[in-house]
Amino acid sequence: MTSLRFDAVAEASRRKPVEVISPVERPSEFFGKKVFNRQKMYKYLPSKVYDKLIDVIDNGAQLDRSIADAVAAGMKQWADENGVTHYTHWFQPLTEGTAEKHDAFIEHDGKGGMIEEFSGKLLVQQEPDASSFPSGGIRSTFEARGYSAWDPTSPVFIIDDTLCIPTIFISYTGEALDYKAPLLRALHAVNVAATDVCHYFYPDVKKCISNLGWEQEYFLVDEDLYAARPDLMLTGRTLMGHSSAKDQQMDDHYFGTIPERVQAFMKDLEIQALELGIPCKTRHNEVAPNQFECAPIFEETNLAVDHNMLLMSLMKKVARKHGFQVLLHEKPFDGINGSGKHNNWSLSTDTGILLHGPGKTPEDNLRFMVFIVETLMGVYKHNGLLKASIMSATNAHRLGANEAPPAIISSFLGKQVSDILDHIEKADKKDLFNIKGKEGVTIDIPEIPDIMRDNTDRNRTSPFAFTGNRFEFRAVGSEANCASAMIVLNTAVAEALTDFKKRVDAIIAKGEDKFSAIIDVLRSDIKTCAPIHFDGNGYSDEWVAEAEKRGLDTEKSCPVIFDRYLDDASIKMFESMGVMKENELKARNEVKWETYTKKLQIEARVLGDLSMNHIIPVATHYQSQLAKNVENMMDIFGAEEGKKLSERNLKIIKEIAERTSIIEKGVEDLVNARKVANKIEDAREKAVAYHDTVESKFQPIRYQIDKLELVVADELWTLPKYRELLFIR
Ligand code: ADP
Ligand code: MG
Repeated sequence: MTSLRFDAVAEASRRKPVEVISPVERPSEFFGKKVFNRQKMYKYLPSKVYDKLIDVIDNGAQLDRSIADAVAAGMKQWADENGVTHYTHWFQPLTEGTAEKHDAFIEHDGKGGMIEEFSGKLLVQQEPDASSFPSGGIRSTFEARGYSAWDPTSPVFIIDDTLCIPTIFISYTGEALDYKAPLLRALHAVNVAATDVCHYFYPDVKKCISNLGWEQEYFLVDEDLYAARPDLMLTGRTLMGHSSAKDQQMDDHYFGTIPERVQAFMKDLEIQALELGIPCKTRHNEVAPNQFECAPIFEETNLAVDHNMLLMSLMKKVARKHGFQVLLHEKPFDGINGSGKHNNWSLSTDTGILLHGPGKTPEDNLRFMVFIVETLMGVYKHNGLLKASIMSATNAHRLGANEAPPAIISSFLGKQVSDILDHIEKADKKDLFNIKGKEGVTIDIPEIPDIMRDNTDRNRTSPFAFTGNRFEFRAVGSEANCASAMIVLNTAVAEALTDFKKRVDAIIAKGEDKFSAIIDVLRSDIKTCAPIHFDGNGYSDEWVAEAEKRGLDTEKSCPVIFDRYLDDASIKMFESMGVMKENELKARNEVKWETYTKKLQIEARVLGDLSMNHIIPVATHYQSQLAKNVENMMDIFGAEEGKKLSERNLKIIKEIAERTSIIEKGVEDLVNARKVANKIEDAREKAVAYHDTVESKFQPIRYQIDKLELVVADELWTLPKYRELLFIR
């Protein structure tokens, strides 16, 4: 009856590491081998075309359609030399993955044969049949089809025999149907706003760059065990399973020796990632058994987002080759840590200044403080929205469970930065700032020694922590597209910087010195955003009460948190920064609610199915075995003694009867709750009903199943157990 589980365990235990042959070249040599990067552009494009394209990439110049044919020809030549036969526009629809539709280069030659062709037109724009991608009704509202358009700022790359062209995906009337289009607009907004503020300090700055360094956490599970767990296969997480006697309590996995099969997987993944230009740097075991992390060096945010999407899909592919399935779900297993994707974020200039890092002069440090405080202003003003940007049906399991930041956004700054903010806020203005005749101005901002990582990195409970020269947004989910968080963060900071500049300029216009004006506004903002600053323990109950007092968003329900996108302040921010319009936000929220509902719907079905056709049959089968045994005992010893000797079995028979009937009743309730919720038309109301009345029915069922797992004979249990999923590798 149970052979699948035991076959899977046997198969998984026998598996040997797959040999990975290292390339003969050094990593620095094969890095970017499959990317049409600048070196290749230089080699394959006429020099005038190259210059124009670089101007588009570096300075956001308008793409001149007349160069598109030449660029396409250069790309095609490079692609041919690499055995490429197909091309695809590669984009990021509002599902969590990426989308691609491959087309061969071939065209009719008009003489009955074929020619291979790739023109500028095909490079620049395509019209994928978009009807199956979520759009939240935008397309029906605007009666427009979606099209994908080339993003020249993210380089084209090769996967197998296909040339992949990163694109945005928008409707004909310009509404974003993807993550990349609003991300590019947000990055443009923050560039403009930050460059303007930079000019107070550094007049030669032409451009500000948003940087992102993500850290991808994931689990690996043997593929045979995975195949024997329908819940993992269909929902990405285990909907049942008693905790393993041993899991992460010994802390023996974190940074431990990487298991051999996993090491081979990582090596393979890294080689392929490096070839695709993803600068993978760190790999290690994470806290939970079979949990790992991969982190590249930070890059410009748009590129970093593409690279993360690419890495996630690469991981899935490479894992299969090594007999694994990769789990990107934020909470695949109950009772042990889930997975996140820390987003290390900062702004820097084209002149090489890290704006979130301290500098050598008092002016530098004033600039440092401006960027820290205005980031906090953005995060404070839009803390609920920022939470909405990382919220999902899956990440909801992780946030607020004592391992990940709570479902409240706050920022940890550490003692040094906190002290400086205090000093600026409280010191006498005359002491802080002075105009000293010919010498110019003096600004009394204390020297900032190289900020110690120890000091800033210690607080692991903060969702948005300052870590020396960047902020680390830790609440982002492992499965998410980082763009969602990056759109909100960059837009919020763009708005804060824009607003800051306006107020400073108003004071300067009255004849005030610019540094004096900056200090005035800074002092006022330090007070305003103080509620977002929290260096204490984010896991404590007191923090929830305190955060409420401070007016921070403490809502826990995922579908309700999505409402923050439609707050007046959010719409105003997105519209004024040119990132998204109200109709786009509304449409996207429809998609969020629908996705939420669908995920829960699938989970509810799987839970129901497994309960009825795995758990209850197995439990009753075991129960019959026990009953048979009791009968035999009574035959042998007579009714009375036989019963007495069968006390334990009788107890279990009863327990199984009780538990299975609770499960059955639970599943019935679950089905009924779903039926009621399914009748609701409105996407938001439906998602709320799923949250309030459907999801709440999962845990009581699971509880009984997990208890049954403890009493039913191991040999009969069909689903691979936690200890097998977590320790076989
Ligand atoms: P952790 O201790 O959190 O694991 P790491 O030193 O491994 O931190 O860095 C995590 C990520 O942060 C890496 O991708 C790294 O390149 C990135 N990072 C470092 N400095 C910055 C910065 N100034 N801006 C953005 N990302 C950064
Ligand atoms: Mg980190």
